[in-house]
Amino acid sequence: MSYLDLSIREIHEALVNGETTPLELTKEAVARAKANKENAFETICEKEALEFASSLTEVEKDNVFYGIPYIAKDNFSTKDIETTASSNILKGYVPLFDATVITKLKAAKAVMIGKSTLDELAMGGTGTTGHLGTTYNPYDPEHKRMVGGSSCGSAASTAASIVPFALGSDTGDSVRKPASLAGLVGLKPTWGRISRFGLFPFAPSLDHVGYFTRNVEDSALLLGLLSGRDDKDSTSSFKPVEKYEEKIGESIEGVRIACIKEIDESITDPALLKKYKVSIDALRKQGAIVESVEFGKDLLDSIYATYIVISCAEATSNNANLDGIKFGPNYGGKTYQDVMMTARTKGFSELIKRRFVIGSFALMRENQDVLFLRAQKNRAKIVEKTNEILSKYDFVLTPAAPGVAPLFGAKSDKLSDEYLIADNHLAIGNFSGLPSITLPLGLEDGLPLGINIMGRAFEEKELFKVASAFENITGLKGLSVINKKEGNL
Ligand code: GLN
Repeated sequence: MSYLDLSIREIHEALVNGETTPLELTKEAVARAKANKENAFETICEKEALEFASSLTEVEKDNVFYGIPYIAKDNFSTKDIETTASSNILKGYVPLFDATVITKLKAAKAVMIGKSTLDELAMGGTGTTGHLGTTYNPYDPEHKRMVGGSSCGSAASTAASIVPFALGSDTGDSVRKPASLAGLVGLKPTWGRISRFGLFPFAPSLDHVGYFTRNVEDSALLLGLLSGRDDKDSTSSFKPVEKYEEKIGESIEGVRIACIKEIDESITDPALLKKYKVSIDALRKQGAIVESVEFGKDLLDSIYATYIVISCAEATSNNANLDGIKFGPNYGGKTYQDVMMTARTKGFSELIKRRFVIGSFALMRENQDVLFLRAQKNRAKIVEKTNEILSKYDFVLTPAAPGVAPLFGAKSDKLSDEYLIADNHLAIGNFSGLPSITLPLGLEDGLPLGINIMGRAFEEKELFKVASAFENITGLKGLSVINKKEGNL
């Protein structure tokens, strides 16, 4: 047992009581990072982290983040620390500024010990497309299973107890899906709640800062720290930041929860179905009203295509600056066009090239009406339906993934009918910008299963209330590879 295996609040208490120090915690986190076998790191910032931790000598009793080690996905700009988004085209790129979330964590004296791997440029969901190769699921020591992506390294390192929390980004499900496969709490708050300044854009109408923790309270505390208006991100909200942990532990009597009939019907894994059903019964026993509603199968079937058209179109346009001239290595060439062609040919993996082709195709003048605008209209329909459900219910509860972590090779990011709904419905949270949290549900043969709860815009406090009730039902608070539990379901 190490302090790193505890919650943020528990580590804080140990710091206040003088049982450990930021330097000790940092040394241990760095040692665990170096020993990690999951290929979770782009960079381990040993020198910077030890230097910063050494300067933390006066514990701040009212600041739970003081001296807490964490990891950031490598698509957050970090001043003076190489930031590549796991892409060859950005190799050697050292930003001149910090992302706002990094600035806030620094100001709170949390210690960044490393930058984690991702699917290249945060596109993809397998944790296999980054330039350092595959990131593995720590729950499978044989390394046959995915941890999922794109925030693969952040998920793997939180589950492996290297740090109590790690930053990720979520455009379609990149925090909430890996959270499910790695037995973690994964939050994507309301769009605009956390500033995205310094997060490399993938598809800004869908992009969110998100993160992994091992319990609900830590997730709420972190939202309080990271949220708020930032003039450097004009899409960040002016809404006041709340004490998001305030309602944790309150009764869920009378809370109205909708399950989506077609999503539930798309689940075929018997263990998942069983645990999911038992958890719903337990919610009802606590006084929650849980009902099944229809969304419309056609609408749900269309999520993936809608997501791909919109996200690829936005990605193509946002990544136009990756031309081999402004950032990253010089791949050579005689003319501007030459340089760009070579850099993009050598700098991008197959997945990125495919997505940029799709994006450019959807944005061609002659295709805009039938592809891009049609996808936008369909997105509006999906959002309208979601809001209609949330006008009658407080939350939507769904399984977060079709089952446990898939084997490598069993899945790619190409369109497949197999789990068309079960694998893609989390993107509803990105289309609508609504807050959405994944929680561990149970384990099947030692591998985690997860559920997701989505709430109304800016009602994160309520979301944490129901999430903590769910956490008590499963008994999986603090789950990690080191702190393995069977759970109650
Ligand atoms: N897996 C999705 C994709 O392939 C989501 C990525 C993300 O949320 N960044 O794009």
